[in-house]
Amino acid sequence: MQKAPHLAFSCLKCREPVSFCIWNEAPVCCDHCQKNYRFSDEITGKLKKFEALCRQIHASEEILGDTAVAIDVGSKQVRVPFRLLLTRLGSVLTLEMGEQKLEITFRTEPLADCISK
Ligand SMILES: [Zn+2]
Repeated sequence: MQKAPHLAFSCLKCREPVSFCIWNEAPVCCDHCQKNYRFSDEITGKLKKFEALCRQIHASEEILGDTAVAIDVGSKQVRVPFRLLLTRLGSVLTLEMGEQKLEITFRTEPLADCISK
């Protein structure tokens, strides 16, 4: 099945998960409590970059498994596989929404779900 990336966060009002596709022009709304979210152009821009980055990492997973980053620790050099880095990294972007912090996470969902919302 073809997968499309999704972004998700916990609703600031009811804490239920809200998932959305940043490339979809439709307003983001919580299915549970109907709270509407309007992102500024700046935030939308950041979310698009974040989504594109996560999607690229996801798409490159196969080759990332064969690569490593070398880190100098004192006189020794340690090679850390990218795959390990990525599993530790987690894909979370924290945004300021007024007084509150919104933690946006990246996940993959079937493409049809992304279009129908
Ligand atoms: Zn809600």
